[in-house]
Amino acid sequence: MNILACDIGGTTIKLGLCNSLGEIIEYKEYATEAFKGGMYIIEQVMDYMSDYDGYEAIGISTAGQVSPLDGSILYANPNIPNYTGVRLKDILEDRFDKPVKVENDVNAAALGEAWIGAGRSFADFICLTFGTGIGGAIVMQGEIYKGMNGTAGEFGHMVMYPITDTDAKWDSMYEKFASTKVLVQKAQAIDPKIINGKMLFSRIDEGEEELLSLLGKWEQEVSRGVATLIHIFNPPAVIVGGGIMEQSWLVERIGISTREILLDSFQHTPILPAELGNKAALIGAASLYHRYSESE
Ligand code: BGC
Repeated sequence: MNILACDIGGTTIKLGLCNSLGEIIEYKEYATEAFKGGMYIIEQVMDYMSDYDGYEAIGISTAGQVSPLDGSILYANPNIPNYTGVRLKDILEDRFDKPVKVENDVNAAALGEAWIGAGRSFADFICLTFGTGIGGAIVMQGEIYKGMNGTAGEFGHMVMYPITDTDAKWDSMYEKFASTKVLVQKAQAIDPKIINGKMLFSRIDEGEEELLSLLGKWEQEVSRGVATLIHIFNPPAVIVGGGIMEQSWLVERIGISTREILLDSFQHTPILPAELGNKAALIGAASLYHRYSESE
């Protein structure tokens, strides 16, 4: 059965028709006008979705914490304003008259990787994705560990530095130092023409020393979080994804700097790039159906 899958991120909305093997038959992406707020984005998404037919159900992956009870957004950080409380599943079911499942983007990415990607040979692993924010997922026995209300694994909100002012609690968190968005913003301060990771890497290839040193500092920030998580979970594997991690050399460098921090007994933890690249969450959104529909 075909699933219309949609991955709603703070920067990009990805839409794809996926078959039961996890293959994407049709694919398009659009810029998220996140600053216009949650309901505006949902209207955008519904507009794009109405171009598709030939599917039986809808799978959504989205930034933000998702209620496993009713598929609403329990909490979204300022990357998407006014998204908290949006009843995503109900709104889409009303509009399209098809079954809808909603999952947090990184939980979905981890499920995609567990299904047909880098996680397929591990029953347990943790997954992090780097983009506008940093998301996390804890996979145990092939399923997502959800925690008390479905929101476990918000790795991007680990507090990495002292909070100096309670209004600025976001500023102390992992994603404020190690997200791709922050890396690109810092690169832009050096060279205003850089608007994404690809441009940053091509400038580094041209020998831009200041940018290379910026990348090295960012890798250290990334590694601190990865090492901390390895010390907590002792996972059989760590899978890192998000568009930027499609450069396998970057994942290797992060592996090296993480091992500099890790205790000896954790040194052998594999740190692997996501195999499904930045489509992992989209494929994972489709897998919500293929993995679970038979048992319901
Ligand atoms: C959000 C997470 C999301 C992650 C990646 C974080 O800021 O809190 O829910 O998974 O960004 O999009």
